[in-house]
Amino acid sequence: GYRSRAAYKLKQLTDLENVIDGGDTVVDLGAAPGGWLQVAAERVGPHGTVIGVDLQRIEPLEGHDNVETVRGDMTEERTRDRVTDTAGGDVDVVVSDMAPNMTGEYHLDQARSLHLARQAFETSLELLETGGDFIVKVFEGPDVDEFRSDVEDEFQYVRATSPKASREASSEIYLIAKGRLTAPVEPGD
Ligand code: SAM
Repeated sequence: GYRSRAAYKLKQLTDLENVIDGGDTVVDLGAAPGGWLQVAAERVGPHGTVIGVDLQRIEPLEGHDNVETVRGDMTEERTRDRVTDTAGGDVDVVVSDMAPNMTGEYHLDQARSLHLARQAFETSLELLETGGDFIVKVFEGPDVDEFRSDVEDEFQYVRATSPKASREASSEIYLIAKGRLTAPVEPGD
C-alpha cells in the first residue's frame, strides 16, 4: 500500500499530462511521508532515480533501491545545493507537494504556500534539462495568476488542475508545466 492518500494525486497528475517515464531522474520536494516517492519510484523503474527532500525524516522505502532522500529545508541554499549534488545533473522532472504548517489563517497559509511554490519553481529552473517537466502545488489566491504566468514564461505550456483525490481540500491546485524551454547554464560554460 501507499504511505499517503497523496500518492493517488500524483498518479492522476502524471497520467493527465504523461509526466514521468521509465529511466527518468525525478526530484520530489516535500516528499514525507513518501506516497509520491513510491509512485515515482514505480514509474521510473530500476533505471531511474528519485530524490525525495523534506524537513521531516523519510522512513526508508522497502524494495526501492532507486530512491535517495535528503532531509532539509528547501528555503535554505545548503539544502538546495545538497539536492543538486545528489541529483548529479540531468533532472527530467521536478515535483513539489510542499505545504506550510497550517495556521488556519488563510491569507498567511496561502502566502506561505506560494512562497514554497516559488522556491520549487526556482529549483526546477536550476535542475531541469530542456524539455523537463514540473508539477507544483499551490493554495488558490489572487497572486497565483502572476505565478502561473511566470511559470508559463519558462515552459512550453502550463495546465492548472485540482485532482479528484484532493477535492475536499478545495483551496489547493496543481500546476503541471510541460517542456522546460532552455537548459540551465553550467558554471564554466
Ligand atoms: N507528497 C507527500 C506524500 O505523498 O507523502 C506529502 C507531502 S505533505 C502534503 C507536505 C510536506 O512538505 C510536509 O512533509 C512538509 O514537511 C514539507 N515541507 C514544508 N515546507 C518545507 C520546506 N521548506 N522544505 C522541505 N519540505 C517542506
